[in-house]
Amino acid sequence: MMTRRDAIRTVTLAAGTLALAPSLLRAEQSSMPASLTYPFKLPGLGYPYDALEPYIDAQTMQIHHDKHQGAYVENLNKALASADPQYQKWTLQELLTKLDEVPENIRTMVRNHGGGHYNHSLFWLMLKKNENGKPTGDLANAIDKAFGSYPAFQQKFSEAAARVFGSGWAWLVYGDGNLEISSTPNQDNPISKNEKEIPLLGIDVWEHAYYLKYQYRRPEYIKAFWNAINWDFVAERYAEATKTA
Ligand code: MN
Repeated sequence: MMTRRDAIRTVTLAAGTLALAPSLLRAEQSSMPASLTYPFKLPGLGYPYDALEPYIDAQTMQIHHDKHQGAYVENLNKALASADPQYQKWTLQELLTKLDEVPENIRTMVRNHGGGHYNHSLFWLMLKKNENGKPTGDLANAIDKAFGSYPAFQQKFSEAAARVFGSGWAWLVYGDGNLEISSTPNQDNPISKNEKEIPLLGIDVWEHAYYLKYQYRRPEYIKAFWNAINWDFVAERYAEATKTA
């Protein structure tokens, strides 16, 4: 049976000759919509809704994927349906990195719903039940170098996630040869600020991401998140990012 990693590798080989934008990582080819164009489709979650229990509950995952991301895809398509056909040929990556060239009447829709589609597609790939999982190899060394230690990184990332006022995301990004922690409001992604800032890991701190299980206790959700990170995927993104940078 082919695992998802094998599938990604197979697609990677097939796509190996394509010229890729710096942040369009090869590991994303199979399930990331970055290189896809209108009309966008909701990708599958890639694992059962209950795969991250007890850290992220099945009902949250189902509603989050099917309804929230589903609505982002639908609304992004609605905005583009009314736009000049030239914009329907732009990839999701292009739409988000050239937002100031998107017609003003659909720009906010593309920013919010295109960003929502992009962020969630990435988020599902970053998650995997992985109790007390830790980064390894080059990524672990880079985290130690940038933040002092893995616990120090966890603390700084958790603080950034807790500090987001209202809805948004906290990120570990690679840009300019460095690892950095940042946050974005709403459904913004670091690539819209700077295409060379490649998000390696992100946490969704919209209430819809945790409220059913954790209610107002966002710090508890953030603590649980450390047991649900697909560090292999994050390490692959880091390896690709350092190669293309
Ligand atoms: Mn969300």
